Amino acid sequence: MNRIYVDNAATTKPSRRATEVLLDVMENNYANPSSLHTPGQLAAVALADSRRKMAEILGCEPREIIFTSGGSEADNQAILTGATLGLRKGKKHIVSTKFEHHAVLHTLQKLEKQGFEVTYLDVHSNGMVRLDELEASLREDTALVTIMYANNEIGSIQPVRQIGEICRKHGVLFHTDAVQAVGHLPVNVQEDNIDMLSLSAHKFHGPKGVGALYIRKGIAPATLIEGGAQERGKRAGTENLPAIASMAAALEEAVEKMDEYNAKLTAMRDRLIEGISKIPHSTLTGDAVERLPGCASFCFEGIEGEALLLLLDQKGICASSGSACTSGSLDPSHVLLAIGLPHEVAHGSLRLSLSHENTMEEMDTVVQAVTDVVAYLRSISPVWADLQKGTKEYVIQ
Ligand SMILES: *Cc1c(COP(=O)(O)O)cnc(C)c1O
Repeated sequence: MNRIYVDNAATTKPSRRATEVLLDVMENNYANPSSLHTPGQLAAVALADSRRKMAEILGCEPREIIFTSGGSEADNQAILTGATLGLRKGKKHIVSTKFEHHAVLHTLQKLEKQGFEVTYLDVHSNGMVRLDELEASLREDTALVTIMYANNEIGSIQPVRQIGEICRKHGVLFHTDAVQAVGHLPVNVQEDNIDMLSLSAHKFHGPKGVGALYIRKGIAPATLIEGGAQERGKRAGTENLPAIASMAAALEEAVEKMDEYNAKLTAMRDRLIEGISKIPHSTLTGDAVERLPGCASFCFEGIEGEALLLLLDQKGICASSGSACTSGSLDPSHVLLAIGLPHEVAHGSLRLSLSHENTMEEMDTVVQAVTDVVAYLRSISPVWADLQKGTKEYVIQ
């Protein structure tokens, strides 16, 4: 079957260049970068090269980058760093939002059990935090602000630069989960006033299981993994050099082609939004303007998102209801609840996340398939029947 893959926010296909670099390093540069012999030193050089490339793209120094096993680990380490440094000064308050990734939310919940207090800012119906609310939430004892760069379910892009500015003004550390942004938007830690940033290779056509944490010099990183002296003693374990080198190559490629890809992605995304918005009692979720070029996300009244996904899969369309991490659970997405959708509407969600490999023709196929499947599911839905009869009121007009 000819499949249409529109689940790139869950993971992307590794690019040819990323795969070639991965294989090449595995075959030809397999020594341990900590070894003193010549092959070891060649591996150390390749590691340093990767770090330098990534630093250049992010606008930081190589020594400000810690390689991790991915976005989740980087999020954990950043938040633990903010909490540990805060604790030393008696600061036990953290500010975040209601729609962060679970790697952030679950770390914060753990800290709450240890006596930290967390303020979860509203993200309002368009999936955006408000700067005045952020500023009002900051206190004398605020140790850290952690707010994502772009949301993985509804694609809304936060005003990161201004958030960073407010944090600087109040002397509070600012971490951003930029996993959905790096490689897709022009992220620069200096210009964006970021103290700590998480990224993950498999969201920009690199391999899975590798990522990085940018941590501004002068901020002492907390360690999650104790052991050897790798990553300046802040993240032990023999470096995954094939994946790290592949990630650096993938990021370089993503940045080189960003403008070209984003022009194509935006046009395809807007075709989806235009077509799918014609379905009655449906709504676009997330901000209409401040959204990732490749992300189109919707809710449909009167249907179950799970059923929609299964029927789309039968038609060869690989989509998602939102977060890959919550699929399989019966709870609706915390992101959709955070933007104020009631449970029954949040259940009828669909996320279509694109890559440059998709085509306009595919978008037309997807619009037709979604239109047909939503109509079919409504025809057998008791909830839809109640809505039609008027015994139940529509939430989405
Ligand atoms: C995918 C994702 C993560 C997790 O990254 P992994 O590399 O899969 O651990 C964290 N935050 C966001 C916003 C993501 O989209």
